[in-house]
Amino acid sequence: MNGEIITIGRELLMGEIVDTNASYFARELANAGVTVRWSSQVGDDIGHLHEAIDRALNRSQIIITSGGLGPTSDDLSREAVASVLGEQLSVDPEMLAWIEGVFRERGITEMPKTNVKQAHIVPSATFLPNPGGTAPGWWVRRNGSHIFMTPGPPREIKRMWASHIGPAVREMTGAGVVHTRILRTTGMTEGGIDELLGELFGIENPYLGIYAHVDGIQLRIISRAPTRQEAEQLAAPVEAEIRKRIGPSIWGADEDSAASRLGELLVENGMTAGVIDSGTGGAVASMISQTAGHERWFRGSLVTGPGASPLLESMLGGPADRLTGAVSEAAALQMAQSARRLTGADLGIGITPPSSEDDEQTRGTVFVAFVSSGPGGRPGELSGGQKVVQGRFYQSPDRALPRAAMFVLTEATRALALGEV
Ligand code: ATP
Repeated sequence: MNGEIITIGRELLMGEIVDTNASYFARELANAGVTVRWSSQVGDDIGHLHEAIDRALNRSQIIITSGGLGPTSDDLSREAVASVLGEQLSVDPEMLAWIEGVFRERGITEMPKTNVKQAHIVPSATFLPNPGGTAPGWWVRRNGSHIFMTPGPPREIKRMWASHIGPAVREMTGAGVVHTRILRTTGMTEGGIDELLGELFGIENPYLGIYAHVDGIQLRIISRAPTRQEAEQLAAPVEAEIRKRIGPSIWGADEDSAASRLGELLVENGMTAGVIDSGTGGAVASMISQTAGHERWFRGSLVTGPGASPLLESMLGGPADRLTGAVSEAAALQMAQSARRLTGADLGIGITPPSSEDDEQTRGTVFVAFVSSGPGGRPGELSGGQKVVQGRFYQSPDRALPRAAMFVLTEATRALALGEV
């Protein structure tokens, strides 16, 4: 199959940016079994774009464009393709609603009118989802040729290639589809997982990989097959076996983040969460606040310094108990109870400061307590369930705090999923 790449934008022709998108697509297309015969750069000019796309459609089966999908008047890729196809652009109401939603999630209640442009499409095209931005791509099919239109930002094109374009192209060329399923665990070490999953490792297809990640150990099942469906079918029994053996330690999959998964579980159970945090310097609240839809379930976080203080006393509504500020299970539980009372949340999370003892064995120990009324319980009622976990974070603060926050969020998710709180 012949391939052709067209990168679009005046900055490319002015030498202001390096065309890394062209080299990225050239490499990926070659790996997917496509012979790239032409690659060109075109400015933001409708006539020149028309010429380049028309020529490509006459000689190549797989055409990838990048750039010119933004909302402004010099973003002309859609218009150029529509004119080559001889088709009319019209607004797709579903896509418009989706783009408006993206703006709302970013806190912009009124989407700029110019962005309506990004919801336009022609009959021969379908939208290509762009998980990282507002500009969806297009997939055009015409006389056995395919045009995949992507936006300019390199981060966005890589995700679109991995999730949609790459698998589609590999299926067409017969190079096969590579499917990756990620399972995210907490509370286990690489060695511990290795022992339990033993013989599942070392198989070529589906291949099982294990990686340490800031949010816990990740398992990746990578399967190869002629079609996506077959590749998924190959991975499914391995996932089932892993879940049978270490299911309670798996808190999420694929693109889940610790905070997004926790939010999903809380919303499913009609619950909210609040935090008293002496251990992560506010990193828990910061991670939650970066998650779409958190306003539905996050009631707030009170961040204190490591010791007892007037701030802490005023939060607790009286003299700080002698336990508060201490690094113990009891202190964590007291903080979690107070978090529920003060934020009015169903699930209270208490995080003690890290132990600063000189003892190598305990330095950096943090206790984290979860206290809840259980699903359906009312805020302020006596707890329905409680759990305390313990982690150690002894690296420098820039590394230790995000790790501790991840630990808190993944453990909260696990406790909820298992019905422990
Ligand atoms: P947006 O929706 O972000 O406006 P767009 O489809 O209009 O996307 P451009 O405005 O052309 O794309 O590019 C956005 C950014 O992506 C540019 O500022 C540039 O940094 C980067 N970019 C664009 N084209 C390329 C390329 N060929 N190689 C590397 N980076 C690129």
